[in-house]
Order: sequence, then C-alpha cells, then structure tokens
Amino acid sequence: MGEFELIRRYFARPSRRAALGTGDDCALLAPAPGMQLAVSSDMLVEGRHFLSTVDPARLGHKALAVNLSDLAACGAAPLAFTLALALPRADAAFLEPFSRGLLALADAHGCELVGGDTTQGPLNICITVFGEVPAGQALLRSGARAGDDIWVSGTLGDARLALEVFRGQLSVPADVFDAARARMEAPTPRVALGVALRGIATSAIDISDGLLGDLGHVLRASGVGAGIETPLAEALMAAPYQGARRLEFILAGGDDYELAFTAPPGRREAVAQAAALAGTAATRIGSVHAGSGIRLMDGDGTVLDARYASFDHFA
Ligand code: ADP
Ligand code: MG
Repeated sequence: MGEFELIRRYFARPSRRAALGTGDDCALLAPAPGMQLAVSSDMLVEGRHFLSTVDPARLGHKALAVNLSDLAACGAAPLAFTLALALPRADAAFLEPFSRGLLALADAHGCELVGGDTTQGPLNICITVFGEVPAGQALLRSGARAGDDIWVSGTLGDARLALEVFRGQLSVPADVFDAARARMEAPTPRVALGVALRGIATSAIDISDGLLGDLGHVLRASGVGAGIETPLAEALMAAPYQGARRLEFILAGGDDYELAFTAPPGRREAVAQAAALAGTAATRIGSVHAGSGIRLMDGDGTVLDARYASFDHFA
C-alpha cells in the first residue's frame, strides 16, 4: 500500500463542514462571522506518551482527545483537525483500528479531518486542532481573581495509577487496574463543559501534567496564589484505590485531561448547571487568594507542605 492509497483508504473523507477538506494543497475553513479560531497542536511519541502495546483504537482516540482537551480549556467548539503521521510501515492491522478510534471521536465532536502529512519513520502522531469561540469569550489562564473558587471536572489520578502498574511499581486488583487503565488510554475531553463555562469561569486549563503543576500555570498567569483542601481533592479518583500514593496521584499524576477552572463564589449555581448540562461532575477543591504558590490544607485548615511537583519532559 503506497502513501496515497493509505491516505485515501484510512484518512480521506468527504468534507462536510469545511469549505475544502483533504486532497488539495491546503484545506479551507470558513469560521462563522464574529468567531475567533482557536488552534492547538499536541504530539504523541511512542515510549514517551504511550506504550507500544496500546490498543491502536485507543491510541487513535487519545491522539485526538488530548487536542480536543485544549479546545475545551479555552471554551472553544471543535471544527476541524489535521493529522501528521510518521509510521514505521503501512500496516493495516494498525491503521484500521487507529483510524477507527480516531474518527469515531472526531465524529462524536463534529470535528472534521481536513488534511495532514504521512511519512515513514518511528511512530509519531501530531494533531493540530481548530475550534471556534465567540470573539473575546475564550477562557484564558490569566483570569483567576482572589476570592474565586477552584473547580476540577471529572476524576483525577487514575491515569497515573495505571502507569505505575504498567511500570511494575504498584500492584492492584484487576478491577482497580481496568478502571484506571481505561482513563489512561481513552481520556474524555471535556468539550461540552468548556463551552458551557463561557461567561462563568474566570480562567481554565486542562490538566495534562498534573493538577498542582497545571494550576500553577493559571496562578502565575493570573498573579495570584491558591489553597487546596486536600479532603475535597481526595474524593477525585475514579478507581477504587485507597493505597498510600492516592493523594499524590490525584494532585500530581498527569494525563488526566480534566479541566481545572476558577469562578466567583456567586456563580456556584451556574457552575453546577453548566456541569449538569455537560454531563460531567465538577468538584470545588479550594480557592484563589492574593499572593503566590499553592497551599495544601487539611480539613481543619492545617497547612501541609506542598511537596508535589508535576511532570516536566525536560526536568
Ligand atoms: P503535499 O505534498 O501537497 O503537502 P501530500 O502529498 O503530503 O500533500 O498529501 C496529499 C493530501 O493528503 C493533502 O491534502 C494532505 O492534507 C492529505 N493528507 C496527507 N496525510 C494525511 C493524513 N494522515 N490524514 C489526512 N489527510 C492527509
Ligand atoms: Mg506533504
């Protein structure tokens, strides 16, 4: 199977929303009047972001999910994406499930594959996603204000739990592992929640490198500090794991693809409605204050030390 046959068979589809999809030198997008284009790229590298043994359908899903998660963090609605793919060989046993997993998530979000590049090389998947958001309404990292609540969507820590099991660092019962593994290999981008939080959240970020690290980006961009109540955060893991590293996984695990966002306490009802509309849980875990850094607090306000750091590829 040659390059063009491969593209035609697995990735070229008739365009619906785009003015022009795959097949020419450029795709053409036509954002609606008054909308801004939101653009983000994420690359997945074998051995770094996924294991060679992962189910290709889940890999296809995850490659797009991590990109949709960035749109969600900005409150942007997905429009289209491009796919730059390096493959060791044209292997139908990989390409068929990979493209199926990828395009199923794309269809679920009305996000069209409009182009890309395909080359031979070590397996590497780079997606650029395009979304739209009404001008001036994108959720940014810089909008958190002292007094705001801090919220987190869904669950945290499961992906890291699964990774530790894969690495042989931890052993857990099969049901715990299965629940955690599904969250690691097939994360759910919180696109509907991001859109529903326009005009409610003062800031947002998606949690890819761990809650503390990613919340830290919001706090620095906003020039504020935060307090997290650990008993509130402690409820956030989906897998029924009660081991010693539970809180560490939740606070600093990474690969969660949930949203962390801030909103004024007067908007708690609006946040609850947005979450209900999006079919996603939202949990309040602390609040923003003047100053800098993150204080971890016990239920009674005792300050614990902030010993958790997040994942940095070059650290
Ligand atoms: P060019 O040489 O002009 O960059 P290519 O020969 O690389 O174009 O690709 C031919 C067409 O196929 C282009 O429209 C490109 O966007 C599309 N394409 C290439 N690879 C992919 C892919 N992995 N997924 C979707 N479309 C792709
Ligand atoms: Mg090309």
